[in-house]
Amino acid sequence: MTQQSGAAQLLEAVMFAAERHRNQRRKDAEASPYINHPIALAHLLATTGGIEDVDVLRAAILHDTVEDTETTENELRERFGNAVAGIVMEVTDDKSLPKQRRKELQIEHAPHKSRGAALVKLADKTCNLRDIAATPPADWPLARRQAYFDWAKSVVDALPPVSEPLRKAFDEAYAKCPAAQNSDPTAREGHWLSMPGVLRGTSGFVRVLDSGAIEIELYDHSAAAESSFGGDVSTIYLIRKENLTALANALAIGFGGDAPSLDKLPQQLTEFLDVQSLIDWLVKNSGVPFEKRVDFEV
Ligand code: ZN
Repeated sequence: MTQQSGAAQLLEAVMFAAERHRNQRRKDAEASPYINHPIALAHLLATTGGIEDVDVLRAAILHDTVEDTETTENELRERFGNAVAGIVMEVTDDKSLPKQRRKELQIEHAPHKSRGAALVKLADKTCNLRDIAATPPADWPLARRQAYFDWAKSVVDALPPVSEPLRKAFDEAYAKCPAAQNSDPTAREGHWLSMPGVLRGTSGFVRVLDSGAIEIELYDHSAAAESSFGGDVSTIYLIRKENLTALANALAIGFGGDAPSLDKLPQQLTEFLDVQSLIDWLVKNSGVPFEKRVDFEV
């Protein structure tokens, strides 16, 4: 690499990331340009964190290029050197794993991060919490946003301590965790039962909310969802508590036998072959009212 000033090196990374992320949008309601996010990370590191290490700032700018664009590790090594590429790879998830596993691994791997990677990770989580609190992803219910806040805190708590001012900025962002509203029937996590999907990369959940309502979720983390939606997508069918007796009766009419009691109903729903056939029956044959929504994962 030719000798460049720190400013020139940083701007090289900004140009490269802007080009790679040019067609991507954030998941907030306004679909803001993706590049705002890595710029916000580098800005937070340089201002609040007082970080002057150009490798760390460049890694912040480039941190999502391997995970979310066609960029390869080798390409980063050639253009930006081993130190920058190394940090980016430390904060890149293995996309061949299901989303849930990737989230667990972020917590498990956090204590082993280098200083540069820990700084980028801390800034990333802080910026994401700020974005979710200020401009939540369209269609993310309260429980989903709260769960994201808690997961982000678990990752950050597991990181080695690298910067007091940045940790303080994270804690301030975390304090803005969206508050529970008692009127929201989906505000509590409830109890989950899992069931298989038909297509590779899909799975299902029957979830009993603390309000008594039941949700049936088709979770799609396949490559097809990745290319169509830029990430994982969940399609969720909510059946309110007052309609559960009708659901139990519809099961008896459709499949014979007695209508299951309401406490046996969730288990009985998982005895469908797979989540797609359950949803198919619910929508086409059950006659039970439901509410459908779609969630996208960041
Ligand atoms: Zn990020």
